[in-house]
This record gives sequence, structure tokens and C-alpha cells, in this order.
Amino acid sequence: MKKINIAIDGFSSCGKSSTAKIVAKNLGYSYIDTGAMYRAITLYFIEHYINFNDPKAIKDALAKIELRFIPNAQNNQSEIFLNGLNVEKEIRKMYIAEQVSEVAAIVEVRRNMVAQQQRMGKRKGVVMDGRDIGTMVFPDAELKIFMTADVRIRAERRQKELLEKNEMIELHKVIENLQHRDHIDTNRSEGPLRKAQNALELDTSYITFDEQVDIIMGMALSNIYLD
Ligand code: C5P
Repeated sequence: MKKINIAIDGFSSCGKSSTAKIVAKNLGYSYIDTGAMYRAITLYFIEHYINFNDPKAIKDALAKIELRFIPNAQNNQSEIFLNGLNVEKEIRKMYIAEQVSEVAAIVEVRRNMVAQQQRMGKRKGVVMDGRDIGTMVFPDAELKIFMTADVRIRAERRQKELLEKNEMIELHKVIENLQHRDHIDTNRSEGPLRKAQNALELDTSYITFDEQVDIIMGMALSNIYLD
């Protein structure tokens, strides 16, 4: 059977990763959360006091970082390891969200991450979510989705996720963080957040999660079997 790559891009907290995870599972594909990679790099930079404006320190730090996704047999999810340590929980915290977009705008960081992501998808059969997957990482991906949603709805979803992890953040702070990240992601020089020309735009504000998954599954299956 033909294998394809699926690129899911869009603004922060549109439901990209939860949708991508289920689509990958249904198709028997690997799911790669590229946001987790930028978050793990941010954690390393914070822990090692790396100056975000010092290209030499950044280059040296990147050479010392090894990122791996390892499946967790208990919850069937793949989790990110930073130099051998499971950091899946730590990278979801608000202090990482507050700095990750600055780190993700650094050219050296992006080039390093994009090269790793391209290697992961070389043999196809990957569902990858991020901001530049359809434009930079896999410009030839067979299926590209660009997700959007109303900022308030996104913030409410994000706030609920944080609450489930025992972080109580006021809604206006969550909205500010999403707008801040979207602004930096859209305006950076390297790999800015853009809808790829041939991407399908999906507004998830008023559709259910199951509908979201069904739409993408339908497109994936027609691509795999009909194209
Ligand atoms: O997807 P998530 O919200 O976890 O991503 C965290 C941050 O990583 C984003 O706000 C963005 O700044 C950055 N990112 C990126 N390119 C990607 C994935 C994430 O710049 N492909």
C-alpha cells in the first residue's frame, strides 16, 4: 500500500497534536510532535543558562543535545527524551511556553530541527505537526492541513489542558501567551508560520474533535487509495 506523509500546521492550540496522534494511530503511522522538540531545546537552554543571542553558545549547546521519541507502553504515546531523560511533562509547563517561540525563531535551532525532522520522514508513513511542516520540512508532503480556530476557543482548550496538569492560569494570560507565540511564529525570518499553497485550511472552532479526525482521515484515505 502507498505510504504518505501528512503535514499538520497551524496556530498554537488548535488541536493539531491531539488530532495528528489519532490519525497516525488509525493509519499505523508514526506521529512526530515537532513542538515538543522546540520545547525540549528551550528547556535545555534555560537549564544551562544559554544566552539566546549568543550564536556560538547556541551552536555548542545544540551539539550536546540528543532528542529521541520513545514509545511509552503504558499509555501508548511516544514521549520525548532530552539526553536520555524523559522531559515530556516538564516541557508542557507555562514557563517553557513563555520562551519557546524566542528559541524557535533562532536560525541555528530551526536548521538543526528541520534536518532531524526530514530524516524522520524520509521513509514516509509519518504524521507530523508544527508550524513549517508543509512549507519547509516536507514541502512535498502528499497531504497538508492548515488548522485555525478562534483565539478564545483555543485559549479555553489550552487552559483546560493546563488545569488537568495542575497549572491554574488565568484565561487572559493564556490568550496573551497564544497571541505572543503566534506573532513571533508568523513574523520570524526562518520558516515562518504560513499556510502552504496546497494546504487545506480547517477551522476547528465549531467542529467536534471526532469531526476533525474524520475529515483528515477521509482525505488521507482518499490520497492513499485513489490518487
Ligand atoms: O506545537 P507547540 O505549541 O507545542 O509548539 C511550541 C512552539 O514551538 C510554538 O509556539 C512555536 O514557536 C514552535 N514551533 C515551531 N515550529 C514547529 C513546531 C513548533 O516554531 N514546527
